[in-house]
Amino acid sequence: MMRQFELVERVKRYHPDADEDLLNRAYVYAMKAHGSQKRASGDPYFSHPLEVAAILTDLHVDDQTIAAAILHDTIEDTGTTREDIASRFGENIADLVDGLTKIKKLDLVSKKAAQAENLRKLLLAVAADARVLLVKLADRLHNMRTLHFVPPDKRARIAEETLEIYAPLAGRIGMQDMREELEDICFRVLSPDAHLMMVKRLQALKERAGGLIQLIEKDLKSKLVANAIPGEIKGREKRVYSIWRKMERKSVSFEQLSDIFGFRVVVTSVEDCYRALGIIHQAWPFVPGRFKDYISTPKQNDYRSVHTTVVGPKHQRVELQIRTREMDAVAEFGIAAHATYKDGKSSAEGGGESNAYRWLRRTIELLAEGDNPEEFLEHTKLELFQDQVFCFTPKGLLIALPRSANPIDFAYAVHTDIGNNAVGCRINGRNSPLISELQNGDEVEILTTEGQVPPSAWENMVVTGKARAAIRRATREAVRKQFVGLGRRIVERAFVRAEKKFSEEKLVSALPRLARATLDDVLTAVGRGEMYSGDVVKAVFPDFREEVSKAGAQGTGKGWFGVQGEKKLKFKVPGQEGAAGSIPIRGLSDDLPVRFAPNGGAVPGDRIVGILTPGEGITIYPIQAPALMAYDEEPWRWLDVRWDTDEHDPRRFWVQIVVSVINEPGSLAEIARVIADTDANIDNIAMRAKTADFREMILDIEVWDLKHLNAIMSELRAKPMVASVERVIG
Ligand code: MN
Repeated sequence: MMRQFELVERVKRYHPDADEDLLNRAYVYAMKAHGSQKRASGDPYFSHPLEVAAILTDLHVDDQTIAAAILHDTIEDTGTTREDIASRFGENIADLVDGLTKIKKLDLVSKKAAQAENLRKLLLAVAADARVLLVKLADRLHNMRTLHFVPPDKRARIAEETLEIYAPLAGRIGMQDMREELEDICFRVLSPDAHLMMVKRLQALKERAGGLIQLIEKDLKSKLVANAIPGEIKGREKRVYSIWRKMERKSVSFEQLSDIFGFRVVVTSVEDCYRALGIIHQAWPFVPGRFKDYISTPKQNDYRSVHTTVVGPKHQRVELQIRTREMDAVAEFGIAAHATYKDGKSSAEGGGESNAYRWLRRTIELLAEGDNPEEFLEHTKLELFQDQVFCFTPKGLLIALPRSANPIDFAYAVHTDIGNNAVGCRINGRNSPLISELQNGDEVEILTTEGQVPPSAWENMVVTGKARAAIRRATREAVRKQFVGLGRRIVERAFVRAEKKFSEEKLVSALPRLARATLDDVLTAVGRGEMYSGDVVKAVFPDFREEVSKAGAQGTGKGWFGVQGEKKLKFKVPGQEGAAGSIPIRGLSDDLPVRFAPNGGAVPGDRIVGILTPGEGITIYPIQAPALMAYDEEPWRWLDVRWDTDEHDPRRFWVQIVVSVINEPGSLAEIARVIADTDANIDNIAMRAKTADFREMILDIEVWDLKHLNAIMSELRAKPMVASVERVIG
């Protein structure tokens, strides 16, 4: 713990006329007031206000502010009153301590709007005397430095608040060092994995760079000396968090960052700044677009400096900041430096607010006057880590995704083609499912195979809009291809029936007659049922005449179904045996635009036909379906189809059966049990009374295939209470 005389010495070093007695009295008073109170660390509580005061001495603030820092927790945490402080230390210091007490009471953890409102209050309180903010920031910095003593559940909340409010405020008033230290601590607390990873990468980079830093520093120094420019070179390493932010903002990899190592050239005059710049630009090629002159145009927070990036020794990019000593102090201490350099005297002597503080007050008043506190928070607030997850490509490119994103999102974030062709992934070198939830710092490698179509189900698995849109687009494209494929089969068959030779070249030359621009357009139109395949043949061979009525000519129409009841005998699906010309059907999520008849579907094992519906694709019917009668007059819509499933196929198919049961208690349960035992799913059950003795149960069930269905039906028929079991085909 800092001793009394040490504190006084520290202040006197930069402020020789400091009120020694004031500092001594504040020290003794606060020590007694806090008494035996302890911090979470177990240290005496008094060590905290002392450390806060020590931080402020580094910023060279005046003695009144130091005294206020020592006393800052007395009203809130001890029996002390504002009047007490005022009578012992004067109204000025009493106001400062009172302001700090008010800020401490603000609950900044409530909802966003309330938080913004509180922030506004805080700023207004501060605007009354800007030194309150300096003490508050130092207070927060010390609390953040000792945050590891606080219970873990409270740490994240405090770090969030710091990152949202205090770190940006420190930046706004020009205290860059404090802002960066606050951010680094918050980063470590909120995102420990990412923080550790960045620290390790930075360490590795430093080891690789070896003596390069010393080499550049020596080089720079000798060039200044050779040109008689007095000054010093400071090696400057970027903070972990600011590198991270840059990677995230610019989507660049760690290795691509040019300015992880930088140097600061501090000279004595503004002319020397520009002279040094000229010498540096002569010695090394500079990187275009990186030169910024904040000396002639200072930043809003009064920051002044010249920035440039050059390609230095060993082709290492080096970022340089050139400035005077005064500018350097402003950049490091911000507002506090104004007090030393612009006023040159303490506020105690000046009797109140100094020019520098007045400047800060104006800035803050402007901010606080905003009608919309939300908007201010928006601008001040940094993105929270809580709703984001940060991952890397194997090459080290940073990919930021929303929380609960998976490797599919990641793949589309890298490139649409990678997403579309993704077939698997490795997370941190381990094979993992594509739907794994990604964690911060994961290195994700996407495995791809050319020519994939993303399953449409992915659309509901991803969380990013980019991935969803790309999947939808790819699915739509795949459907278009299905129609083209279907159209091609239909057209080819039409040529075979017409005993003409199909050739793409001839069809292309006939495009104008079909009023279509491309071959694919024709095939799509036929596949969608918007163009009749016979018309395509006629367009290529204008002399071709379809001889008979459509029904007979196609060989698939009415001839199949002469008289009802004779269907099974007469039916012969062309190609069902050879399967050459027929279209293979797997199921609903097929690579063809296929659906099943709405009333009583077909199951594998059933003999089936397809009916082409314009714009929709093929509807599959069992051949015995009475609904097929409706298409007798439209033979061109009939398609040869065959099953292309095997026993390992996990898909189930929907059928409807009607079970006639004796009307007695428990019969429903018994039927359900039988169906469950046979491994079928029941989708729906409807009942209707048949007679007083019998009831009919209409069951929608899902089965593997016809064998499965037949097995279920015989099981049911074997039950004593079952009178009959029939399959329903609409
Ligand atoms: Mn405190």
